[in-house]
Amino acid sequence: MSPHILVLGGTTEARELAAELTARPRTRVTTSLAGRVTRPGAVHGELRVGGFGGAEGLADWLREQRVDAVVDATHPFAGTITANAARAAAATGLPLVVLRRPGWRPGPGDHWHPVPSLEAAAGLLPRLGQRVLLTTGRLGLAAFAGLTELRFVVRSVEPPEPPMPPHIRVLLARGPFTVAGETALLRDHRVDVLVTKDSGGAATSAKLVAARDLGLPVVVVRRPPLPDGVTAVPDAAAALHWLDGPHRP
Ligand code: NAP
Repeated sequence: MSPHILVLGGTTEARELAAELTARPRTRVTTSLAGRVTRPGAVHGELRVGGFGGAEGLADWLREQRVDAVVDATHPFAGTITANAARAAAATGLPLVVLRRPGWRPGPGDHWHPVPSLEAAAGLLPRLGQRVLLTTGRLGLAAFAGLTELRFVVRSVEPPEPPMPPHIRVLLARGPFTVAGETALLRDHRVDVLVTKDSGGAATSAKLVAARDLGLPVVVVRRPPLPDGVTAVPDAAAALHWLDGPHRP
């Protein structure tokens, strides 16, 4: 029988993995998206969109759809679905692997300020600058809403919604970005501090190089920890290798 693999998606790596898996003979692949983005782009294999209804709902879906293995390829900051996937895999006894791209690391010349949360980032900002490039996503702007004195350039894929800081300019854009483009953006808006999540990956790392070149401080929100006991791999190739190993569905 064809094994059925669920890919929890929303990332480039999830798309890559679905493409690789659907190219294999006798493999059924379903990618699941939360439905946050209006035009998410094509995925290979089957697609389902929307929440499952918590860990229990996900476990029910895994049983109903006769899933044989789960790859959690969600974004490093999508902590709730990752926790739910771990619980649902434990409840159903299914193999689970988390595909998590490595985080960024500071190098010589970087002025990074690691913080545990968006709220902590907001607390630190007034000491670091007045003109902020905020690239932490359109959800979560509420954490910065009280910073009424600061000027924000907010870059996001979809338009942000209130609550948000009063002095805000929105740039709608989707990566990948270049160092030249990011340098121009920081200069044009006279940005003096950058805020980012530690998303990792090459598509959005150019801003870090641009900030280093301009000598700007960067507030880096650390990732939420993975659930205890889960296996994590860094890329789609490693996830395929894992699926071919002792956990082979
Ligand atoms: P989250 O806080 O971890 O999840 C919130 C709820 O959204 C989950 O409990 C689940 O609802 C639903 N959900 C999330 N991912 C899902 C998926 N792949 N398929 C079906 N339901 C899903 O997630 P988030 O941070 O809002 O991110 C939502 C999606 O956007 C994720 O798939 C992630 O890969 C992608 N994304 C997130 C970020 C980020 O910075 N957080 C950045 C880029 C892309 P139920 O409990 O009802 O099942």
